Amino acid sequence: MTLLADDPRLRGPVRMQGVARTCAENDLEGLRRGRERLHHRLEPMRRSSEMPSYTGGCHCGAVRFEVKGEIEEVSVCNCSICAKTGYLHWEVDPATFRLLTPEAPIRDYQFGTMTSKNLFCERCGISAFRRSRSSPDQIDVNVRCLEGVDAEALPVAHFDGRSWD
Ligand SMILES: [Zn+2]
Repeated sequence: MTLLADDPRLRGPVRMQGVARTCAENDLEGLRRGRERLHHRLEPMRRSSEMPSYTGGCHCGAVRFEVKGEIEEVSVCNCSICAKTGYLHWEVDPATFRLLTPEAPIRDYQFGTMTSKNLFCERCGISAFRRSRSSPDQIDVNVRCLEGVDAEALPVAHFDGRSWD
């Protein structure tokens, strides 16, 4: 084998092989960078799949839903309806929310400017989620209606909803 390696006819192919290896290394470098880019793009998705998942609903069970996300903060609102119901708000992206009871008897109570959707269960009267006037693109989950969540232990922000009434 040593003899063959010294054969001048083999020098060409050996050099070629060297060049080829360099190209392969470049390819690997490109592949690695590509993977890193992909990794950065996938990171938010990976995070969302690792998000905690909650189930919740109304009192009688006719309205059930599932929602994913970190409950970093909840808000208490002083508007005329939230002040009376004690609603504890958590605004979520509709993509993270899934209604498990699509046939649920959900009614919409409107008042004032008639823009917020104060959704509630027709059977038991509980509002487990709604669409608010201040964040119409979000779903406003009532954290008090989530299972396994200690609502009193969460950081609370105060929203001046009275000014929106
Ligand atoms: Zn109900």
